[in-house]
Amino acid sequence: MNSASTEEGSGSPARGGLPATNATAVEGGFHLTGEKTWTTWLPALRAAQVSAALGSGGVGTFVVDLESDGVERLPGFDALGMRGSASDRLVLHDVFVPADRLIAARPAGGPDPRGPAPGAWFGAVVAAVYLGVGEGARRDVVRWAIDRRPGDGASAVADLPTIGVRLGRIDAALRSARIVLEEVARRWQAAAPAHRAALVPEVSLAKVTATNATVLATDEALRIAGGPGFLSGRLERAFRDARAGLINPPLDDIAFQSFARRLVDDERAKSAR
Ligand SMILES: Cc1cc2nc3c(=O)[nH]c(=O)nc-3n(C[C@H](O)[C@H](O)[C@H](O)COP(=O)(O)OP(=O)(O)OC[C@H]3O[C@@H](n4cnc5c(N)ncnc54)[C@H](O)[C@@H]3O)c2cc1C
Repeated sequence: MNSASTEEGSGSPARGGLPATNATAVEGGFHLTGEKTWTTWLPALRAAQVSAALGSGGVGTFVVDLESDGVERLPGFDALGMRGSASDRLVLHDVFVPADRLIAARPAGGPDPRGPAPGAWFGAVVAAVYLGVGEGARRDVVRWAIDRRPGDGASAVADLPTIGVRLGRIDAALRSARIVLEEVARRWQAAAPAHRAALVPEVSLAKVTATNATVLATDEALRIAGGPGFLSGRLERAFRDARAGLINPPLDDIAFQSFARRLVDDERAKSAR
């Protein structure tokens, strides 16, 4: 199962747009009609969580059985870092969905009625995946720099002082990101469910720290490897893969603005006391 939220016209669901996909109430359930783009793994999915506009003006999330009549799976697009992800288009033509498959409903732009856990899960998983991309690139570039002895072969690239600065910068960014992510996960696990909403900004911090550390690390890795780094292979692939992490929610601008809001609100509250 995966989430099918994004639509051609609506952009990122993280910004709270009303989906053009419609849910019409019928006897025993709903008819869903619309088209979702960027549905990762679509050829392999058995079900999808589809967002759709409800007649009431709200947004519902439906679990749709993808073997139902009226479901069509179309090829997606040719996109940087996503060519192996089968992020295709899910088209729904009047697909009947039983009433008990409406698993959540909220006003357009309103918070997820399931609470903070789904968003926190997503942010933490994205952080972990992209940190893995960055740490893989760190290992690969170190191995490459040890083996590579250009020119007269007197010294390995790994022992050049300027390369050391770059490797150190990669390592500092990735180790900081790992410490933040592990600490946030530990705090989430330790907190009682009722107190977890207060940790959502920490999850956002872990996600933006990890994805930006990986963008920095893969950029530095290609600078270290020079021309050979451009050749099709693990380093150039990591460089492409890293970029997609910036697009997954929580997005940088939303996270940073929420940090700023908290700073300003806290300070105003202190001076009002
Ligand atoms: C690897 C990967 C896998 C994905 N898999 C899925 C999936 O399985 N299911 C799914 O539903 N979606 C998926 N997506 C889609 C993703 O979550 C986004 O919805 C999609 O990328 C479009 O959102 P966008 O913000 O990039 O584009 P747009 O909304 O078109 O925005 C374009 C640009 O304008 C900026 N912008 C837009 N609105 C505002 C605003 N109000 N204020 C400030 N800036 C704004 C955006 O930040 C962006 O830079 C996936 C994306 C990636 C990268």
